[in-house]
Amino acid sequence: MDFEDTPELAEFRAEVRKFLEEHAEPKHGDDRDWSRNATATDPAAAEQYRVRCAEWQALLYREGWAGLTWPEEFGGRGLSPAHQIVFNQELSEFDAASGFITASQALVGPTLMKHGTPAQQERYLPKLLSGEEMWCQLFSEPGAGSDLASLATRAVLDGDEWIVNGQKVWTSNAHHSDFGILIARSDPDVPKHKGMTFFIVDMRTPGVEVRPLVQAQGVAHFNEVFFDDVRLPVENVVGEPGEGWRVARTTMRSESQMISGASQATGYYAVLSTARRTGAVADPIVRQELAKVFSNEQILRWMGWRSQTAVMTGRYELALHGSLLKNFFTRALSHRVELALDLEGPEGMLQAEAEGEGFWQYQCLNQFASRIGGGTEEVHRNNLGEQVLGLPREPTDDREVPWSETRRS
Ligand SMILES: Cc1cc2nc3c(=O)[nH]c(=O)nc-3n(C[C@H](O)[C@H](O)[C@H](O)COP(=O)(O)OP(=O)(O)OC[C@H]3O[C@@H](n4cnc5c(N)ncnc54)[C@H](O)[C@@H]3O)c2cc1C
Repeated sequence: MDFEDTPELAEFRAEVRKFLEEHAEPKHGDDRDWSRNATATDPAAAEQYRVRCAEWQALLYREGWAGLTWPEEFGGRGLSPAHQIVFNQELSEFDAASGFITASQALVGPTLMKHGTPAQQERYLPKLLSGEEMWCQLFSEPGAGSDLASLATRAVLDGDEWIVNGQKVWTSNAHHSDFGILIARSDPDVPKHKGMTFFIVDMRTPGVEVRPLVQAQGVAHFNEVFFDDVRLPVENVVGEPGEGWRVARTTMRSESQMISGASQATGYYAVLSTARRTGAVADPIVRQELAKVFSNEQILRWMGWRSQTAVMTGRYELALHGSLLKNFFTRALSHRVELALDLEGPEGMLQAEAEGEGFWQYQCLNQFASRIGGGTEEVHRNNLGEQVLGLPREPTDDREVPWSETRRS
């Protein structure tokens, strides 16, 4: 591995540092950081967090730090992934975040750049990059999650409009979104991967109803979205009708990259401080578990460095599979948060009354978001089996039959 910056990257790092020092506070790692409100359960604090994220993104855009790797023609800087890594490394030391805007850019940006028409790119990409318009991903359905290609939301062409009926679920941030990317079944009489079309949906279109779903933490980050005779103009199709799966695969690839790229957040010192506060730090078994948290954190860091080195040196064969990073991250997260709750003892059963207004309680419940969102752990294990170990594909009996004849839940 080579961790040294090239002269060009060293110069870039210094510029990034100067920008961040001028516009953000260094991170404290405790309640003083506004970006910690990403996990706020108080609606006012959650809303304030969202507003500050939008302000931060607008600042990045104005000052030329948004879309570092986006081509210049789409408003980006046309820099390399290595520049983005340097930016992220420096940013991680500051109390600043773009929150969900980062995710919507990662999902929508590459999809529209690759498959969108010039008119779509011109209309949507600048405001996506500035954070002025928010987007959500309308893919999962009650009967189609891991097996997304079995989805049943119908799109029927009527003149120069498509009429959409059906239901999506787990749609993160739909209640704050201006637009959504939607995949729907446009031809039920061909095999399931073939008859889908990909759309842009203005979330204010008549017939779109967003119903927030309250999670176990008491906040609503995601939603059910209902489509009742929603009329979408033909200009809102991304790619060709019937080619929606190809377009959606671009979105899903960017989603995996985003999740595995984000999976370096760690929290050894937070657990250690809980162990000290509760007096458990001298217990030999607790020390063993703390050592495991520390080791997991180091392993994650080294896994991240290995992938970064691969990107920075162009030796992509060294990069670790995103599924490996994601699953290691989620297992380490579960171990860490469950240990912290054990350390709190009876206090662990409280919620907002516990340490840090229920910081560990929130993290513990939220572990399932990481373990399920962006593909479940089991599905990522399947990916590793098939794509890394070269095991045979899972047997299936519905790849070649028309979707309308398949068995569905
Ligand atoms: C925090 C969060 C945010 C999300 N945001 C969005 C969003 O914005 N937009 C969106 O469209 N979706 C979103 N999702 C949905 C997410 O993509 C799905 O939850 C996920 O793909 C799993 O689908 P499912 O919930 O239907 O579970 P299912 O697919 O029904 O799976 C149920 C169980 O069966 C297992 N399983 C399924 N298939 C296999 C298999 N082939 N091999 C082994 N085990 C299998 C799964 O691992 C799981 O344990 C979000 C989910 C979460 C948790």
